[in-house]
Amino acid sequence: MRISSNMTQKQLCPKINLNPFLLSFLLIVSVGALQACKTTTGAIGDTEGEWDTLAVEEDDFWLEEDARSYQPAATRSMDLLHMDLELGFDWKSQQVIGKAKLRLTPYFYPQKTIVLDAQDYELGRVARMHQGQLETLSYRYDEQQLQIFLPEEVVPGDTVELQINYTAFPDRNSGEGSAAITDTKGLYFIDPMDTIPGKPTMLWTQGETQHSSKWFPTIDQPNERLTHDIWLTVPDSMVSVSNGRLLKQESLGNGLRKDHWKMDLPHAPYLVAIAVGDFAKVTASHGNLPLGYYVEKGFEKGAEKVFASTPQMIHYFEKRLGVPFPWQKYDQIVVRDFVSGAMENTTASIFMEELLLNEREALDSEWDYIIAHELFHQWFGDLVTAESWSNLTLNEAFANYSEYLWNEKRYGQDQADIKLVVEKEGYFAEAEAEPKELIRFNYADAEDLFDAHSYNKGGLVLHMLRRELGDAAFFKGLNLYLTQHAFQAVEAHDLRLAMERVSGQDLNWFFNQWFFAKGHPELAIEVDYTQPENLLVRFSQVQDQFEAPVFQLPITLSWYEGKVRKTKTVRVTEAEQEVALENGNPISLLYVNEGQELLMKGNQVLSNAQYLQQFKESQLGVARYEALDSLISREAREELIEVLPLAIKDSFAAVRENGLSVLQSDREWKEALPGLEAEVYRLVEEDPHNKVRAGALEVLTEWNPSAYQGAMMRLARDPSYLVAGAALMGLARLEEPKVDASWMETFEGETNFRIGVALAEYYISNQVADKGPWFEKTLAALRGEGLYYFMGYYGTYFTEVGMEGSAAAVANLFTILEFDSKDYLRLGAFQALLGFVTDEGVLAKLEAAAAKESSEELQSYYAYYLEMLKEEN
Ligand SMILES: [Zn+2]
Repeated sequence: MRISSNMTQKQLCPKINLNPFLLSFLLIVSVGALQACKTTTGAIGDTEGEWDTLAVEEDDFWLEEDARSYQPAATRSMDLLHMDLELGFDWKSQQVIGKAKLRLTPYFYPQKTIVLDAQDYELGRVARMHQGQLETLSYRYDEQQLQIFLPEEVVPGDTVELQINYTAFPDRNSGEGSAAITDTKGLYFIDPMDTIPGKPTMLWTQGETQHSSKWFPTIDQPNERLTHDIWLTVPDSMVSVSNGRLLKQESLGNGLRKDHWKMDLPHAPYLVAIAVGDFAKVTASHGNLPLGYYVEKGFEKGAEKVFASTPQMIHYFEKRLGVPFPWQKYDQIVVRDFVSGAMENTTASIFMEELLLNEREALDSEWDYIIAHELFHQWFGDLVTAESWSNLTLNEAFANYSEYLWNEKRYGQDQADIKLVVEKEGYFAEAEAEPKELIRFNYADAEDLFDAHSYNKGGLVLHMLRRELGDAAFFKGLNLYLTQHAFQAVEAHDLRLAMERVSGQDLNWFFNQWFFAKGHPELAIEVDYTQPENLLVRFSQVQDQFEAPVFQLPITLSWYEGKVRKTKTVRVTEAEQEVALENGNPISLLYVNEGQELLMKGNQVLSNAQYLQQFKESQLGVARYEALDSLISREAREELIEVLPLAIKDSFAAVRENGLSVLQSDREWKEALPGLEAEVYRLVEEDPHNKVRAGALEVLTEWNPSAYQGAMMRLARDPSYLVAGAALMGLARLEEPKVDASWMETFEGETNFRIGVALAEYYISNQVADKGPWFEKTLAALRGEGLYYFMGYYGTYFTEVGMEGSAAAVANLFTILEFDSKDYLRLGAFQALLGFVTDEGVLAKLEAAAAKESSEELQSYYAYYLEMLKEEN
């Protein structure tokens, strides 16, 4: 699974100025987290005097707590071999009418009862096939599990053929999940009666973690594996997608059709999936492997571009792993209102609607990473599967690391490394609040494991394992691991043993410190330059030794002799260690972990002058980025004056982008760096990266907007929406624009939000009346984050300009606030509605809506603002 919240922050924040409301929301959330973390440190601080006794008591408490929450892998009493599943759907009442035939056998010990997961059903007949006859069985059912009593004991080798008729109610008892995934319906009907304008009717499923049993009875555990045949009765107008192959489609005559999907390779129940809707299918292939991209009609050309890398990715992953794509086909389906970023159902990955782009939007698509993530899961997660959620990182570390692998292959080392730094920051943020073991057997809710440890740290650890062993051994080890454990459940030791078998090295130390212990190394590093031809480097591991071990670390030291990069790798194994470099030629600046590949904190403390040198001499894009970033955060003006002109010409696009964002932040740079404007303009016209072009354009619209009006008018029609949006926004913000409302109106047919917010900005700041209908139409056409950003403008327009339409606007915002499935969109509607609180009845209605809010974070945010408003009035 790929969680979407990362995307929310990463994708949009760099290009769009964050809405201040969103910022304050994020602040509230992070202050909450900080407070939680403060309470812990406070408690330890308070008890300093009586540390020993208290520590012991706390230990006892935690041991007890650990024992209570220990989560073993599920005991395998019965083995589910095969399922025949016939499903029909009552769209109106959102019910699933099912008939499941399950073939099971005892796993090892004789059994007389069979326990199945079956959440919130109304059961019909429960029976077994016995000597050619259907025989009713007695059972006990508690709405969660179905305990079936067999008339006689069965032993391994015997098979039991169960038949269960049932109706499933996915809506019942849903929404009681954890903070990570609030919905646990398993199967989702979207706009089932087609009552929401612009929203297509569809249904799709989300099995992970244990939600498949919301729509079919099964042993809902990751260490179970089954094959299946699924027959779906669907409206003739709709398309169905599921695991494996579509064998047959049969018209039933009454506007319905029955589709037969066959999955003849075993996989875990949480990977069983269906999607039904009015989808268009774009086909592609990789050799003999059929590929399908399912999107809403009208988005086919966009899908061709968004998913264009899929065949090359499969080719690359197959080559690196030496294991062909393991399944019959690979479909990727984009749905509405998905509960996460994407999910790796075997042969049928489902993605959130942010991947629904038109052809022009797809020019700037940046979704390769999520496509790589779900694809790599087809090997890691689907072919070999973590045996329990405690071992989740065996799925997610690999999927996370595939994003590095693909970046490295497609965009080069620098781009891959910078992604690693982002992953690392995500992990640090979480680990500082609460360090956890990567493999953890104690948790309250399985959904809580979908965090920056299982994902980010897992990926970083694999990268270090690769560097430790070398590419040849690492990938051969992966090959052995995959082939030895194909169609099996695995634990971390299976990975260790495969790597040991291939490399001949003992790796217990590596797995112990990274997979089974908490924390990460924090190093104080001192370089003694007194003898420039033989530097002394002192390493002190200063991490909390109660929490984390002393780490064994291969640390790369590097330096430059002219244009030649020299390196030496040293092994730090002690808490305090000193290394003599014996470099020979004098060194003026020694880099520790220059490539940022190690997961550790506390690089050297460098002076501004040293960062300047690093920026100028480092051959690693990630190190130049770091140097620039450090100078920016230190506001090292003198050095930046030297660095910025180099930064915007840097070979690494991320460095150019970062340099431009500094230039844009303050008009003073224009005065301080005369002559740079021409270079910035060259980037607008010539840079191969649209993000850089847009960034450069934003600098010019800040520095000297009226001089570039002509260019902006031309660039407003650039194929890239990033560039066109920046150009239009530049024009919209001009105090005396050459363009008038009728020129702006020529863009009204566009539904891209970058164009939408620029037009909105123009209509608001120029008080253009009669634009209410356009605002309404655009609000209805936008989805996801684009809608979020537009809603702020929408509210402002109807409070400041088009007041006559405000009643309808308020009603539309309330619809989003009360019914949208996405937290951040409900938040956006709430924020926009705050502008209308002086209108009659709005405040009372806001309070009523806030009372019904399901998200705890939003509840506290709403309460905070409503309280403030009440005090004001
Ligand atoms: Zn994943």
